[in-house]
Amino acid sequence: MSLARPGEMFSETRTRRLTAADVGGWDADKLRYGINEIYARGGYDFATPEIKDIFMRLPWYRDRVVIGRSQDEAARHLSPLENANLEFLHVSAKPVYVRPIKLHLAAIGFLFGATIAQSLDADPASEKSGKQCCVCIDPGHPSENNDGGAVTNGLREVTMNWEVALLLCDELEKDGMKVVMTKKSEGEFITNKDRAAIANESDADLFLRLHADAGKSTGFTIYYPRKEGTVHGVTGPSKDVRQSSAAAANQFHTAFAAALEHELRDNGVKGDEDTFIGRRQGALTGSIFSEAPTILVEMVFLTNPKDAEWIKQDRNKQTMARALAAGVRAVRDSH
Ligand SMILES: [Zn+2]
Repeated sequence: MSLARPGEMFSETRTRRLTAADVGGWDADKLRYGINEIYARGGYDFATPEIKDIFMRLPWYRDRVVIGRSQDEAARHLSPLENANLEFLHVSAKPVYVRPIKLHLAAIGFLFGATIAQSLDADPASEKSGKQCCVCIDPGHPSENNDGGAVTNGLREVTMNWEVALLLCDELEKDGMKVVMTKKSEGEFITNKDRAAIANESDADLFLRLHADAGKSTGFTIYYPRKEGTVHGVTGPSKDVRQSSAAAANQFHTAFAAALEHELRDNGVKGDEDTFIGRRQGALTGSIFSEAPTILVEMVFLTNPKDAEWIKQDRNKQTMARALAAGVRAVRDSH
């Protein structure tokens, strides 16, 4: 039984959920073709003329293509199954998690080497121009140290980090920045080493980590890797990363604090050797493995009832996201 349309290479991406066993034997070119074919089914108007020409030979694509349709729009015309397979193929092709909410799986970095037919088409909206700033947002937890799921003053840290991260993502995208998230969902477990790897692979200009503190204090604190640390036998980050992180932390802090207008206490900029894990290792694990300027924002002390009450309010989460975005812009504009 063949369900394939004439010229369709991978009809299974339309009919069933792919598994790791399916794509285990697929090379990078095949993965890219599979991704392009799914977008084609959604009527995507390929930005790369050579790729569009190839699909225009297929009647089913000619019937579907809508002039000017973006990858995002195409994804909205696909079934949930196709979207799931699309995401799966993207993740299989390269372990960079781009914001899943819009299923906007950017093609950056794929347009290399392969023959034209096998290249992944780049949506102009997601193409990295010389100046586009890329920010890797890392909503803290669950990781190897802590699942972030404890309820403190009525809030879970993992939830708060995730909610603010999504708002921040919107702010940065509105501002024309590219955003890569280290997680696809609130509950996804990612080690701190892998979080840094995602930032490194996305070639981020800033690795911005969002957390909430515990302890007897109140307000926000900005941490950056001031010193080398060692974990899993690896020592880092490099001197370059330590210097660029210090500069980023200071630029970020000034704009972030100003935008918060004294809503929360400002505990300033600190080296991450001052944190619980940093004290043991010399630096945080995410810093040790990072090749990008890295800052970690402890947004509030969740253990402080007033801080918790503040961040619980939707409008204050938005205020926090806007302040974080102001900090990111200050870092971007300093380059
Ligand atoms: Zn945390």
